Amino acid sequence: MVTSQLLDSIPAIRHGFGTAQALVPPALAPGWQARPVKRQVHGTRVAAIAAAQQEVGDADGFYTSVPGVPVSVITADCVPLLLARRDASQVAAVHAGWRGLYDGIIPAAVAALGAAGAPLVAAVGPTICAACYEVSAELAHDFAQRFGAAAVPAYRHLDLRAIAEQQLRAAGVTQIEHVGGCTCCLRDAGGAPVYRSYRRGDRGSQMHSGLYITPLKGEL
Ligand SMILES: [Zn+2]
Repeated sequence: MVTSQLLDSIPAIRHGFGTAQALVPPALAPGWQARPVKRQVHGTRVAAIAAAQQEVGDADGFYTSVPGVPVSVITADCVPLLLARRDASQVAAVHAGWRGLYDGIIPAAVAALGAAGAPLVAAVGPTICAACYEVSAELAHDFAQRFGAAAVPAYRHLDLRAIAEQQLRAAGVTQIEHVGGCTCCLRDAGGAPVYRSYRRGDRGSQMHSGLYITPLKGEL
């Protein structure tokens, strides 16, 4: 499990990013069955979660103020982004691949959480690195046009982390931490891949990342 110091600095929030060894982060085990029932589709819909096991249909962002209900996303190269209000009153999990980034799911998620102007904390989890992430010349061109040169650090290579950070900052989020390294090329001491990677050929069940607000004693 990979964690963020920024999110850990909020006592009323539990969170974790999955790895190949623990697809579901152990921190999410309490209440894991209460997570929303969803289908990720590389869109920009950010769904409000008001109850345990809520059926939300197609969505790639999820936010809640309900203690004990985890919001989470599944990724294997795309950006798993976890957001929280500093006061722990609301949390969100966002799945942002190139399409979601291009179409603006991050500003949509920040708008959903930041409506009251509360300061937000953001943790960008394990994501494919720019060196590993080669795309078509057309797509790279479109990203350079929309996000500038930092989004395309080398010919036909996209930097999803940089694009996510740029969008967070543009939306007014200043407390941002990057954790976990590259899903495609990071190896452990024994040489085994640390993460599942779609680009590297992993298929099937992938990694979960999420967070929840801890219930007060006796609330569950
Ligand atoms: Zn890499």
